[in-house]
Amino acid sequence: MSSLVSVQHIVSPVDGSVLAERTLADGARIEAVLAAAHAARRGWVSVPVERRAAMVEAMVRHLESQVGEIAVELTRQMGRPVRYTPNEITRGFQERARHMASIAPAGLAQIQVPRTEGFTKFIRREPVGTVLVVAPWNYPYLTAVNSIVPALLAGNTVVLKHASQTMLVAERLQGAFDAAGLPPGVFQHVQAGHDAIAAMIADRRIDGVVFTGSVPGGAAIERAAAGRFIGVGTELGGKDPSYVRADADLPYAIGENVDGAFFNSGQSCCAIERIYVHRDVHDEFVEGFVAATRAYVLADPLDPATTIGPMVTAAAAEAVRGQIAEALAAGATALVGERDFAASRPGTAYLGPTVLVGVEHSMRVMSEESFGPVIGIMPVADDDEAVARMNDSRYGLTASIWTRDVEAAARIGARVETGTVYANRCDYVDPVLVWTGVKDTGRGIALSSLGFDPYVRPKSYHLRHPS
Ligand code: NAP
Repeated sequence: MSSLVSVQHIVSPVDGSVLAERTLADGARIEAVLAAAHAARRGWVSVPVERRAAMVEAMVRHLESQVGEIAVELTRQMGRPVRYTPNEITRGFQERARHMASIAPAGLAQIQVPRTEGFTKFIRREPVGTVLVVAPWNYPYLTAVNSIVPALLAGNTVVLKHASQTMLVAERLQGAFDAAGLPPGVFQHVQAGHDAIAAMIADRRIDGVVFTGSVPGGAAIERAAAGRFIGVGTELGGKDPSYVRADADLPYAIGENVDGAFFNSGQSCCAIERIYVHRDVHDEFVEGFVAATRAYVLADPLDPATTIGPMVTAAAAEAVRGQIAEALAAGATALVGERDFAASRPGTAYLGPTVLVGVEHSMRVMSEESFGPVIGIMPVADDDEAVARMNDSRYGLTASIWTRDVEAAARIGARVETGTVYANRCDYVDPVLVWTGVKDTGRGIALSSLGFDPYVRPKSYHLRHPS
């Protein structure tokens, strides 16, 4: 987006209509936001953490009370079927917010050190100051909550810049935090172009940035922060592998892998993007996978019967079609594809799921993030080949291993370069565990008892008593 654009539209992928129009923040508005965030710090840091947690609870309740309208609004913004959008609030959002609030008093407590006669010594976790959160559209409440809630609980003021496609989510969050009684300036949102965001990051009143989005976007944010010496969290893309061992519960693994690949049209950072199946069960797995994929209903996502909606934009769908076409030209075979879904129409955001076999890692569909409803399936001879295949990637967010032998899964998982290793599940974020990645997936830390770390700096108190 150019800095010359002053008005932003949300074009709904459901029908191409303009859903909302907002004026982008100009210099005066951004200055006011930064000044208010800075001014609110001293008051907010003196609010006890239990009181901050109570306000987070009030914010969650406010959103829960609006879940019906939020679900429809979310479907219109990004295309996920309305039968699933309520879950974004009723499951993940509330679960993560409440977990972080419940562990905040212990997680932010000062650190005791061994006693020395004549001294008082301890380490305090102080808020970094004002945190800028940049969020994506694909799970717009879930991704934002991971950063906003721990940052606020830790005593920071927060400025949210949400994705242009889901800017109404920022307004919902603002309404909920305002209703919860947060003092002015503690939580604010700003809708601004990329150049304006870079300028904000250069401003000394921003003390930390958490970016969730694409690898190029994360690199741009790191460049904007260069020389500022502030924390930059980057939660970026993935090409998450699944490995189905010969001893897997196959019907279960098939169902979960199909869902992991195609839920939300594959637009999940931790969607399964490539599958390796032990050759002894490969054909049976593929047969079941194809049958389950054909059962998807691709249609208007506002219809409760729809199980897969349009992708976020026609351009995103065209990018996935490009990867599929390249793979087919290079020798892959589509066992299921656009032709199998009447509502799938080239040139539009409506794209039915595609299952490819005969794929190679030289194909982009097996090496670059697809972020769409396409999957490649390859046979492997053993655990060693599966590990080598899984690690042959520039990304590392999650990896799933399907087996009846959970100890073997842990052993194999220890050899996989990834932020999370699952056995017999996938595409799930558990707030008791840290959400993080390796390689080009970035250096983010979210959720769990480690989830406050990006929002605090340690400060040592070394106090000698007069003799
Ligand atoms: P994106 O294009 O990078 O955008 C993400 C957010 O960053 C949006 O708010 C966007 O604003 C903003 N942005 C992008 N480039 C920017 C720049 N140069 N300066 C300032 N702001 C910038 O990513 P996306 O397409 O929305 O999201 C999909 C990507 O996010 C996928 O790669 C997915 O894997 C990744 N993701 C990762 C996680 C994780 O936890 N690791 C979670 C969810 C998604 P505009 O919308 O205004 O352009």
